[in-house]
Parts: sequence; C-alpha cells; structure tokens
Amino acid sequence: MDIVFSPAHRRQHGQAELTDGRLVPVYEHPGRLDAVLEELARRGFPAPVEPEDHGLDPLVAVHDPAYVTFLQCAWDEWVAAHGPAHDALPLSWRAPGMREDREPTRIDGRLGYWSFDAGTPVTAGTWAAAYSAAQAADTARRRVSAGARAAFALARPPGHHAGSRFFGGYCFLNGAAISAQGFRDAGVERVAVLDVDYHHGNGTQQIFAGRPDVFTVSLHADPSFCFPFFLGHADETEGGTHLNLPLPKGTDWPRYLPALETALARIGEQEPGALVVSLGVDTWDGDPISSFKLQTADYRRMARRIGALGLPTVVVMEGGYAVETIGANVAEFLEGFEETPAAT
Ligand SMILES: [Zn+2]
Repeated sequence: MDIVFSPAHRRQHGQAELTDGRLVPVYEHPGRLDAVLEELARRGFPAPVEPEDHGLDPLVAVHDPAYVTFLQCAWDEWVAAHGPAHDALPLSWRAPGMREDREPTRIDGRLGYWSFDAGTPVTAGTWAAAYSAAQAADTARRRVSAGARAAFALARPPGHHAGSRFFGGYCFLNGAAISAQGFRDAGVERVAVLDVDYHHGNGTQQIFAGRPDVFTVSLHADPSFCFPFFLGHADETEGGTHLNLPLPKGTDWPRYLPALETALARIGEQEPGALVVSLGVDTWDGDPISSFKLQTADYRRMARRIGALGLPTVVVMEGGYAVETIGANVAEFLEGFEETPAAT
C-alpha cells in the first residue's frame, strides 16, 4: 500500500488544550505520527512518499474559501494582538439568538467564529502542517484514481471534525472529505466514507449533508456522553445519505463487530465506486481520552472486513492517542487490509 507522509506534520505542536477544567499538554502531538512511521518501517512497509502540492483547489472544494483564508492568517493575527508566547485558543462562541452574519474583526472573536471547541490550539506551524495533511490525503486519492488499489495518508493534524467552515477536535482541514470530493471530481459517481474513529466525524457529516453522491457512515461513541456532543445521533440520516452508529462506553470487539457489519452492508448497497476510511485508533483499550475496548489484533479483523468490499480505497489517519500502541494498531489495520483482494 502506498503511504503518503510529510514531515511538515511536526509543525503542529500545540502547548496545551483545555480538558477537564485544566490546560494540559496536547494529546494530538507529533510523537503520534512518528511512532506510526517507526512501526511501519520496522514491519517492512515501503518507504513513504511526500505529498504532491496541488495548491488550494482541493481544499476549497470542500471548505469555504473565507475559512481557508482565515486559517492562513490566524497565527499572524494572534501574534499581532498577543505575541507569540502562547498558542491561539478561542474564547467565545455564538449561541442561539446571537448573530452569525457579522464576523468579528479581532482575532479572539474570529477564532470563535471559525471554530467549535477550545481543544484545538492554533500555532505558528498550524497552517503548514494542516496544508501538508490535506495534500497528503489528496495525493493518496490521486494514486488510487491512477490505479493503485489503496493508499494511506499518514498525516496530522487529523481532519474529520473539521467542517466546511469550522475547526475543532484537533482538526483544521478535512482530508477524508478532500479525498472523497476528489474521487467525485475524477468521475467516480458515488463515493462512501467510513469513519471508524472513536469520535463522531461531525465535520465529514456536515460537509456532505444531503449529498446522495457521497454516502457517509460513522461508528463512534454515543454523543450523549462523548465529544463532539452536538452531532452523531442515530436519527441524523440526512435523507438516507448518512448513517450514524453510536455505541456505548466500554464497547469491545464482540459489540463493535455487528455495527461494523451493518455499516459495511449499507455501504455495499450503495454500490460506491470508491471508499475513504477515516482511520482513528482511539477505539483502542487504553487510549487516554476514550472508553472503547478494542485490542490491537481487532484492527486486523476490522480491516479484513473493510477490504473485503474490494473497493479502491484511501485510508486517512485520524485519532489515536496512546503513543505506545498507535503504531501497532495502525500497522495491524494496514496489514489486514492488504490480505484482502481487490474486486475484479
Ligand atoms: Zn477520535
């Protein structure tokens, strides 16, 4: 499987995020991806390739150009107002009854205008890293469009919480959505996105809401108790173009598997021409911010079933915060996928 990786991911290294009433060291940090890279090399995967640069076009195919411009400028605006000593974090958000049609001019207000949480620090390197991750997802898609069975965008910051006009949940640009839209623009009539991250893929759902050409499915911790809290319930079907499968705390493989089989059956019914997988391994038993109980070997089982769809597939790295096992969990997934034949 082709692996697309850019060292520019290391430029996103926030100091702190707001969790449990405290500012704590960020869970989403460069060591995550470096651990995956090391494990893939140890297991003999081919050396990764760097992403091609196709400019802003793939980004603005799914994101509001004004939002993309904001991301490019946010750090400089923050430094002008507050200096470079601390990461930029939003402070205030709209509530019902407040205005959506007036974008604030001061950076503190603009951060809230374009985001939905305080867990996603903007740093000096955020734009460079997010841009490289978006290009990695786009490059992986181009490789599959050119004939590869599958490709893996080993990229961060992750993307599935980022919507057309907002960042949050460590995510700025939605690589999975960029890949899916890229398939569409390359002529694939119908694309499926399968999100197996522990958290609901709210950004992906929002971007493709009501789009019959992109069927989006997410298996995740029930938002009634878990981030992102305000999207991800089972009744959000978007006219049949979306499927949410919220799962309880403590979900282990025997309880996860029926939901996965439901997801794969529904994807099969849609007869998509390509698949994008948002691969989060924060479903692992022992992840520091999650509550599921999947074991490392379960990722191989999961990937064998996903691969059995036989679809041209892009896999995009999302979450997974247990640095000691993230590499093994991802490698098991990729090896399991490679055990499955492509459809003929
Ligand atoms: Zn997650």
